[in-house]
Amino acid sequence: MLLDTLDRPLRDLRISVTDRCHFRCVYCMPKEVFGGDFQFLDRKELLTFEEITRLACVFVAQGVQKIRVTGGEPLVRRDLERLIAMLSPIPGVDLTLTTNGSLLAKKARALKEAGLQRVTVSLDSLDDAVFKAMNDVDFPVAKVLEGIEAAASVGLAPVKINMVVKRGMNEHSIVPMARRFKGTGHILRFIEYMDVGHTNGWRLDDVVPAAEIIATLDAALPLEPLDPNYRGEVANRWRYRDGSGEVGVIASVTQAFCRDCTRARLSAEGSLYTCLFGIKGFDLRAMVRGGASDAEIAQAVGRVWRVRSDRYSEIRSEATVGLPKVEMSHIGG
Ligand code: SAM
Ligand code: SF4
Ligand code: SF4
Repeated sequence: MLLDTLDRPLRDLRISVTDRCHFRCVYCMPKEVFGGDFQFLDRKELLTFEEITRLACVFVAQGVQKIRVTGGEPLVRRDLERLIAMLSPIPGVDLTLTTNGSLLAKKARALKEAGLQRVTVSLDSLDDAVFKAMNDVDFPVAKVLEGIEAAASVGLAPVKINMVVKRGMNEHSIVPMARRFKGTGHILRFIEYMDVGHTNGWRLDDVVPAAEIIATLDAALPLEPLDPNYRGEVANRWRYRDGSGEVGVIASVTQAFCRDCTRARLSAEGSLYTCLFGIKGFDLRAMVRGGASDAEIAQAVGRVWRVRSDRYSEIRSEATVGLPKVEMSHIGG
């Protein structure tokens, strides 16, 4: 049975495979909060690959067509290619992964051979100093670029590149990033900085609105709008007027798209969230480990999805910023 609420079908599933990451991006896992004594999930709390695959099959039977593996940093989960090899045979599923790219050069071929279709790589600047200021670790941009090229060369293409734009940190990197990836076939996507979780100290003033990002780009590299590929596509698409490729902008703050949101999220310990800004997930791991049948799990997912009324981005205000919310590193964006 396919699930539909308020005309929002369940189509996408994001699966977080770990809440750990070796980066400490200021907008996601600030070091002050995710420091040495932070309690990450214990290994036995994580869903096993077998449990993830079983749940993925249940979701696909409910209408999911796209699965994105994420985290934390998914490539720090050992043998991730084994999970990819278990998910990739599920019929009719577009299987992708989001990564910070630091381990991608090493892993790209194994991931492709396991059946991964494409990757999205996060990169906020080409300038090592700006990159370091944003992710708070000493890691060279060149290694991420190497990962992007390795992915493209094994056929995990087109590679999408996510750049979170934060006022005062990296808006000067917008045009250099566009120039770097223009004409390569990779698709650069600018993301408005969001108030996910409650640890990143988000302020509306830190958001560089999509309209400003596009105006900055258009002045340097003329653009024209493109139609969406499908209903519910989160990025607004633009193409270079000289025909050398496209870019996207994800305007989750200034142009909320909740009415088209078709996405569920499964956290690393098996909780189901129907919104990026959820407070508490529904515990599917308890059902899996308690002996529930696939039909019972499907019914539970259906109950959660049908009563879903999420529209956080449409009602965001200074007052909602302080509400308790799940962390991005927990459910993976
Ligand atoms: N570690 C992987 C990575 O960085 O690509 C996957 C997980 S990360 C949580 C998924 C995506 O969320 C990344 O592209 C990241 O840039 C984005 N992200 C994290 N915090 C964000 C925030 N506060 N606002 C907007 N995007 C954010
Ligand atoms: Fe790690 Fe990705 Fe979060 Fe950065 S955005 S801290 S790379 S999980
Ligand atoms: Fe979907 Fe929630 Fe984001 Fe709205 S705020 S688009 S409902 S995840």
